[in-house]
Amino acid sequence: MKTTAEIRQAFLDFFAAREHRVVKSSSLVPGNDPTLLFTNAGMVQFKDVFLGSEKRAYTRATSAQRCVRAGGKHNDLENVGYTARHHTFFEMLGNFSFGDYFKKEAIEFAWDFLTNSCGLPAERLWVTVYEEDDEAASIWLDEIGVDPNRFTRIGDKPGKRYDSDNFWAMGDTGPCGPCTEIFYDHGPDVPGGPPGSPDEDGDRYIEIWNLVFMQFDRAADGTMSPLPAPCVDTGMGLERLAAILQGGHSNYDIDLFQHLIKAAGRVTATDDLAVPSLKVIADHIRACAFLIVDGVLPSNEGRGYVLRRIIRRAIRHGYKLGCKDLFFSRMVAPLVEVMGEAYPELSDKQAYVTEVLEREETRFGETLDQGMKLLEAAIVELSDRRIPGEVAFKLYDTYGFPIDLTRDIARERELNVDEEGFERAMGEQRERARAAGSFGAKDGLPAELIAELKPTEFLGYSETGVDSAEVLA
Ligand code: ATP
Ligand code: MG
Ligand code: MG
Ligand code: MG
Repeated sequence: MKTTAEIRQAFLDFFAAREHRVVKSSSLVPGNDPTLLFTNAGMVQFKDVFLGSEKRAYTRATSAQRCVRAGGKHNDLENVGYTARHHTFFEMLGNFSFGDYFKKEAIEFAWDFLTNSCGLPAERLWVTVYEEDDEAASIWLDEIGVDPNRFTRIGDKPGKRYDSDNFWAMGDTGPCGPCTEIFYDHGPDVPGGPPGSPDEDGDRYIEIWNLVFMQFDRAADGTMSPLPAPCVDTGMGLERLAAILQGGHSNYDIDLFQHLIKAAGRVTATDDLAVPSLKVIADHIRACAFLIVDGVLPSNEGRGYVLRRIIRRAIRHGYKLGCKDLFFSRMVAPLVEVMGEAYPELSDKQAYVTEVLEREETRFGETLDQGMKLLEAAIVELSDRRIPGEVAFKLYDTYGFPIDLTRDIARERELNVDEEGFERAMGEQRERARAAGSFGAKDGLPAELIAELKPTEFLGYSETGVDSAEVLA
């Protein structure tokens, strides 16, 4: 059985053997793009190459890119713990053509890799194309010979032009184009329907690989201008592929996650390794550690606030497991064990990452218990299934519970949060702060703690980032 690390390498080797330059993963903080919160795909570091404003010494590239989808256009934070396939942090395997090959070769490479190198049976795969893309349809059906019964054309969402699962865009602006996607059928034991069907959101047919035919640059006003040359950008989730190749169904079954889940069980003193909270902790440590490696620090705004929210969600899961000690920062060492070799920057900063997490954990630990008690007491009193806005606000303002954390707890108990009431309380707070001429406590942290927080420290792109896009092979 191949390990996740070996699968990552096999992918890069496959494309290196087909004249692709192996390019190192860039930072999670996009160096060339203020429009983007985090690197959410392999193409991000190549954006300017697609746009034609940057030239590289090669026209074919391949990478395993660390990605975070926890904010902005691609946000999977709410899926973690609920699906078998979504992470906040994951690795995207990709191959890229900058005005070199186009649809035909891209499709052939992907099919060859999956069916020959990985040995996946064709009858387990399902293909989708953008509804209007006759060229891609014909390559799949006439040249590759996929079964028309395992093939779907997917169009735009009603009333929206170029808004489709088969029209990929990095964000609201930038390079975009029609795409074709390959799904794996985990079999009838898993609930869920094929792509394009009403129950496609189940975990039976799992999307593994997206091949994007980059053709346009979308401007802020929605205008689409053609790129200087048609390009290819593909992305495949490493963890999803590993799940299939290791004979499992859930991403959490793979060697890498099993290692982290065992570690999470150990540090929280939890014997039952099947409890969902351990999965969430295993997921969140990757996002948090790599964001810190890439120069983000927990704070009350922007990227730092996203990091803080993920850390606090993880800590609350430990609390839910009855863990009273610091545990989250103790997940860094096990993470280094499974990912340090592929990402030396993680090993290099192990002590620093541990310290940052420990600090945040200590800080939130001071208010978490009291906040939870307040929430539990409020829940007992509920007359409907809705947590009052004032309670959510108090949790936010006094106990440092980001609103999504309260929402997360509510969802677990099949409750919801009075969002309007929360917004109203927030508005009143802002008014009071304005009247008093101060900005107030932003995240419900006592003022002295806020003063203690360092601003997001920028560690530079050069170490891991776009500027250096260091070539490995
Ligand atoms: P999904 O429909 O499953 O949410 P997506 O269409 O949003 O995936 P793409 O933007 O097409 O994903 O990204 C390319 C590939 O990256 C996907 O086919 C999948 O294998 C992987 N991927 C996307 N999001 C995640 C995630 N949150 N966690 C793990 N892998 C992911
Ligand atoms: Mg998605
Ligand atoms: Mg999709
Ligand atoms: Mg997709």
